[in-house]
Amino acid sequence: MNIRIGILTAPQIEFEQREHTFLLKNVRIGIGFHWDRHEDQEFAGTLEIRRNPDGTQTAINTIDLEDYLCSVISSEMSANSPMELLKAHAVISRSWAIRAMEHPNHEGFHVCADDHCQRYEGLRRLNERAVQAVRATAGQVLTYDGKICDCRYHKCCGGRTEIWRTCWEDIDVPYIQSVECPYCNPAYFNHLPLGGGREGLFFLNDYDQETTDFHDWQVTYTAEELSDIIRTKSGIDFGEITDLIPLHRGPSGRIDQLKIVGTKHTEVIGKELKIRLWLSRSCLYSSWFEVEKTLNSQLSIFNLHGHGWGHGAGLCQIGAAVMAAEGHSYEEILNYYYPGTRLNEKMRK
Ligand SMILES: [Zn+2]
Ligand SMILES: [Zn+2]
Repeated sequence: MNIRIGILTAPQIEFEQREHTFLLKNVRIGIGFHWDRHEDQEFAGTLEIRRNPDGTQTAINTIDLEDYLCSVISSEMSANSPMELLKAHAVISRSWAIRAMEHPNHEGFHVCADDHCQRYEGLRRLNERAVQAVRATAGQVLTYDGKICDCRYHKCCGGRTEIWRTCWEDIDVPYIQSVECPYCNPAYFNHLPLGGGREGLFFLNDYDQETTDFHDWQVTYTAEELSDIIRTKSGIDFGEITDLIPLHRGPSGRIDQLKIVGTKHTEVIGKELKIRLWLSRSCLYSSWFEVEKTLNSQLSIFNLHGHGWGHGAGLCQIGAAVMAAEGHSYEEILNYYYPGTRLNEKMRK
């Protein structure tokens, strides 16, 4: 089963064909997020360059689904992570990808290579352990009521996971429930002997390790800075922002309706991703935050005291890595974050 991945769109794709692989130059990753950057990346499979109506080009990679998964799990997390974490990730990434192949999120290919879909950063971060995890779970998917699950996941829930309707459509997805997650808190896992003496955040990939305040964070703006950011990101002139009022939160604490009060304009916005995008030059770690307004030598200051990294629905990657390091099996991890689901082996080749 082959999957088609749109890797990048640019005025001119720069690439180098190698013996069994190809190299793509200047691939942008983490688009719009705080880890946004460019990398050269190497891929297996075939490369097709599509010319778009607007004159740009798109690089599309076609590759076997199982080979795609090896790269995905070692892009999402470090391939040095505990094996049971890699196996859990292989199952959810496979389940998600099969659904995306049936209902593509993009025109002309099934999935993109960035955080919008799943990270797929080619061969650079890949090692034998990622391959082993994908082979050990070959064909396994997560199902609920006989159907393949839409396995959403995120980096760090912040203490409790979120439900579907806080992030996306107003529906109840029975296996995306809010569960308590003590595991992703450094105060919890820093005391544990993880991964045979390896320290700290070894389960995160290289550039994710730059983010260390993922569980509890703080962002501070003057009213002037905040007003400027919101004007730039929304395209609307709110005047000076005088208040941010959370009107509704999901069960984790993530805000899905936020009232932005300005001297010229007031508006209620949501859901969680829009709030994160409008309140940061890149994107806030999450929409779970308390707003504290203070006055500092006549300057109005907004302090956002936040928790977690990502939308919070489904599997908490850091929590799952810590569960695996504590000795939980991948079945236990999947059952914990997707209650009521079953591991189904029907897809085994
Ligand atoms: Zn996408
Ligand atoms: Zn968590």
